[in-house]
Amino acid sequence: MGEKIIALTPWRPDPVQPRPTAASLPPGAPRLDRLGRQLHDLRISVTDRCNFRCRYCMPKEVFDQRHAFLPHSALLSFEEITRVAARFVDAGVRKLRLTGGEPLLRKDLECLVAQLAALRTPDGALVDITLTTNGSLLARKAAALKAAGLTRVTVSLDAIDEDVFQAMNDVGFPVAEVLAGIDAAVAVGLGPVKVNMVVKRGSNDDQIVPLARALRERHGPAVVLRFIEYMDVGATNGWNLDEVLPSAQVLERLRSLGPLEPVDRAQPGETAERWRLADGTEIGLISSVTRAFCGDCNRARLSTEGQVYLCLFAHQGHDLRTLLRGGASDADLAAAIDAIWAGRDDRYSALRAQEQAAPGSAADGPTTSGRPRVEMHYIGG
Ligand code: SAM
Ligand code: SF4
Ligand code: SF4
Repeated sequence: MGEKIIALTPWRPDPVQPRPTAASLPPGAPRLDRLGRQLHDLRISVTDRCNFRCRYCMPKEVFDQRHAFLPHSALLSFEEITRVAARFVDAGVRKLRLTGGEPLLRKDLECLVAQLAALRTPDGALVDITLTTNGSLLARKAAALKAAGLTRVTVSLDAIDEDVFQAMNDVGFPVAEVLAGIDAAVAVGLGPVKVNMVVKRGSNDDQIVPLARALRERHGPAVVLRFIEYMDVGATNGWNLDEVLPSAQVLERLRSLGPLEPVDRAQPGETAERWRLADGTEIGLISSVTRAFCGDCNRARLSTEGQVYLCLFAHQGHDLRTLLRGGASDADLAAAIDAIWAGRDDRYSALRAQEQAAPGSAADGPTTSGRPRVEMHYIGG
């Protein structure tokens, strides 16, 4: 019983100081949103399709034969994505993450990687180009992605036990092929490879220690393990707080691997709380539910069809595709991006934490309930 009480740490923002729109800022000048957060990361969803049906993301009863995925004409082309990404880089983005759906299902993804890798910041620096994948096609693609300029890769893997993993992906996909993808990524120099496990209490929480042990034996510090609290994203996964295993309990279980020492955050806005085992293997805990990190959330998301979303839990995007296909100049696009970011005050997890800590406290302000939310595979996780 005691195990199910989840301590939520509310985030108390400074009083919101609305700022003027930043449409006239020059490339390179910091862009701050209404809560003073500086734009830094752009996640780009390249497809809404996936070959897995993880229940926490695309349950197969919903995403079945009758589900209408986006037609190809609705998707941004590689050239359109690169044009938008270039404007985001001018506006301060230093990291681009390709995601989806399953990004490696998008044909010739390495061509997009090559186009993005050619971008430079206003002071001429390279941009970090990363990818989040379920790993199913990674063994085949790792070398081409690396050659095209991919900097790093994150692979999702929710279990090391064959039966548990196949139940988690819900299409019977074998764990060995994902492990082969991780091996290939390490071998071509895409490391350290981050491996993400979404922990769902009662479904795969018995895999925390076995997965960590197996990957550590296989790769040691060349793999960074990250455990993510199961989140209430989208509207189809039937999320229930009882199925969230708080990171604090994940950490307790991981202590059976040996002493863990805390590691400082590498950069502001980093979502993971980091720990290190004696052999140097790093472990990250992403407490999206029990410890809101909206206070320094610096990410924007570009959906498959060119909508900008400012929060994983947003219910509405900002359309850039109409601008792109309507003859907008680069300056028009830049002004639109600046205005969108300048108006941002999204902080869903912080509001949810406040509401749960003190029900009714947000009655006069923004609340988290009653708003239809986009699905994670569409917006880009
Ligand atoms: N298909 C790729 C993959 O699975 O890595 C990329 C897209 S997926 C939406 C991106 C990340 O979101 C994955 O690491 C996945 O585990 C995570 N994710 C999806 N639904 C989630 C949920 N309800 N709670 C926490 N993480 C989730
Ligand atoms: Fe597909 Fe990734 Fe969602 Fe799983 S988490 S269904 S692999 S998009
Ligand atoms: Fe960022 Fe939204 Fe998540 Fe808060 S809830 S950390 S604003 S994506």
